[in-house]
Amino acid sequence: MSMKISLYYRARELSFVSNAENILRKKLVYVARKAYEHRLMIGTWGNLSVRMNKNKILITPSGFEKDLLKPSDLLIADLDGQIIKGKWRPSIEMPMHTYIYRRREDVNAIIHTHSHYAMIFAVKGEVIPPLTIEFASVVGHSIPVTRYVRAGTMEAAEEVVNVLDKGKAILIKNHGVVAVGESIEEAYHVALLVEEEARIYFFLKLLSESIEKLDDKEVGMLHEFYIHSYGQKGKKILLKS
Ligand SMILES: [Zn+2]
Repeated sequence: MSMKISLYYRARELSFVSNAENILRKKLVYVARKAYEHRLMIGTWGNLSVRMNKNKILITPSGFEKDLLKPSDLLIADLDGQIIKGKWRPSIEMPMHTYIYRRREDVNAIIHTHSHYAMIFAVKGEVIPPLTIEFASVVGHSIPVTRYVRAGTMEAAEEVVNVLDKGKAILIKNHGVVAVGESIEEAYHVALLVEEEARIYFFLKLLSESIEKLDDKEVGMLHEFYIHSYGQKGKKILLKS
């Protein structure tokens, strides 16, 4: 291959790479703004990340209100926590993100929120059970709570990974929510449903002593159906691209 042609292909390859990176940056900022507008994240709290490939992630910087984020503010880091690209300091909770990506190859996006109703159960240390069919379908399990761990530490990262196990979401004691997904759209959907389920559970507790939770077998069936058959032939249209 002549030098000119090989340079042409190299330039095409690079523009493809940067194009894919730009799309991910825009998507992450779009979801961060949406999460902020839906009050899943208040002030500068909460963080989001998305996997770029096996060893690289895109993550939000520390101390930003999410509605002010620009695609260029995001950082690229490897799964050892080394910053590859970016002008800001990353979220202090980055170890939690990198630990999850290392343990879970099926996870391509993580959203950590301090959303209001979920926080009530995170402080109380109470599991949120499946109560509604949408939650049962998409999440498919109750939301467990970690023991208390200090944010940003390796101990916190290990505890989160262990309690999350193969699940979609957990509560961190006295702290907030971690939601994961195969895509940023899915992680966002899970984070939103955890907050909605917590809200419903909170009001049900005010109304009644005995709350009827969805049966485990039914939750399993609904979740299986959602994974394989719901939406447009298994494809879910969650966000505009
Ligand atoms: Zn936090």
